[in-house]
Amino acid sequence: MSPVDVLIAGGGVVGSAVAYFLSTEPSFGGTVLVVEPDPSYRFAASSRSASSIRQQFSTPLNIALSRFGLEFLRAGGLPGSGDLTDVEFHAATYLYLASPAGLEILTHNVAVQRACAVDARLYAPDALAARYPWLEVRGLAAGADTGTGEGWFDGFALLGALRRANQRRGVRYLRDRVAAIELGEDQRVEAVRLAGGETLRCAWLVNAAGTRARTLAASAGIDVPVFARKRNVFVFTSPAQIPDCPLVIDPSGVWFRGDGSRFLCGPVPTSDPDVDPDDFEVDHAQFEDLAWPALAHRVPAFEQARVTGAWAGHYDYNSFDQNAFIGPCEAVPNLLLACGFSGHGLQHSPGVGRAIAEWIAFGEYRSIDLGPFAHARYARAEPLRELNVI
Ligand SMILES: Cc1cc2nc3c(=O)[nH]c(=O)nc-3n(C[C@H](O)[C@H](O)[C@H](O)COP(=O)(O)OP(=O)(O)OC[C@H]3O[C@@H](n4cnc5c(N)ncnc54)[C@H](O)[C@@H]3O)c2cc1C
Repeated sequence: MSPVDVLIAGGGVVGSAVAYFLSTEPSFGGTVLVVEPDPSYRFAASSRSASSIRQQFSTPLNIALSRFGLEFLRAGGLPGSGDLTDVEFHAATYLYLASPAGLEILTHNVAVQRACAVDARLYAPDALAARYPWLEVRGLAAGADTGTGEGWFDGFALLGALRRANQRRGVRYLRDRVAAIELGEDQRVEAVRLAGGETLRCAWLVNAAGTRARTLAASAGIDVPVFARKRNVFVFTSPAQIPDCPLVIDPSGVWFRGDGSRFLCGPVPTSDPDVDPDDFEVDHAQFEDLAWPALAHRVPAFEQARVTGAWAGHYDYNSFDQNAFIGPCEAVPNLLLACGFSGHGLQHSPGVGRAIAEWIAFGEYRSIDLGPFAHARYARAEPLRELNVI
């Protein structure tokens, strides 16, 4: 195969968003090849996500990325493109709840968000009970929601729409796996070796391999602290009537949200080890042991919750600071990272795709400066910590 300008390892929502913004950038006339081993995406995080989008982050850059993600979803892709027709964005607030121990952080986060023009609102328990009458507020010190700009959508439809738009614009998807990166004497990526045996030369390599990004980067001598962390999602029905149910994050770490006539929920496991990226077995005991007690306490009508389904997926978890690694590696400048999203990669994929495309086309970020997300912060031991990880 002839050399390609940009080779993207991983065709999930992030890799496909990078390809989307490259193929629509008039200043970039190069070739783009996405190498993806599983076009069904059965095990990709992009198809096992809760597909929700929020403004309530503690890192201003994450807020900026979400804001662009929202704009992109609402506009149906790039303005006038008609690329995203069926992502079904549903507007609903997140509702963060804090115990007395969490009050300071929640108050701080709301201040950060308001400084970024998010209409975040902090409620004392009485006001919270008045705003959300179905909520048990005993034991809470505060809650925070937003007036606009949050909700959920069909994440798998977003991935499918990006992939179809890319293929229409000449991006090729190759069913294979990048087995190793080959560096030249100048410490730049020269080529990649595919599991199928072929060697492909490329001018740029984007590592969007999700939970496998660490193994892939290691083949170029780059240490990327991204691990697979399992998250179980449970589907349940309940007699509870909660019109416009928000996405509620309980101080216990359990979250729940509406999903049509059903509800989704997920606990943060008490022990949260790195797991084998091939382990997708649902831990059913987590519903009984972790989720249900918190649900029944917070919404008494959830006492009669009945589980009707469940799945497990993996966060590509950055154990260093729970924020993504985006952009070039200092030691290998034509190796661009787009990984370590720690549970918020779906909503950030449009902003990250646009940023990586800008870096390749112009040698700089033009819309949002994602320089602080560079891998160099890890080498310098300077974490950029995200406090609001669900
Ligand atoms: C339970 C759960 C709930 C979530 N909820 C949300 C949410 O509400 N909102 C949100 O924004 N995010 C959420 N996320 C996170 C979000 O789903 C991910 O951050 C996002 O999907 C990451 O996309 P990706 O393309 O980087 O990874 P993936 O979708 O995992 O894609 C990576 C792809 O790389 C391929 N690959 C792997 N190794 C190689 C290789 N060596 N060569 C080539 N290809 C390779 C894989 O086959 C895979 O298709 C959630 C995740 C989970 C698991």
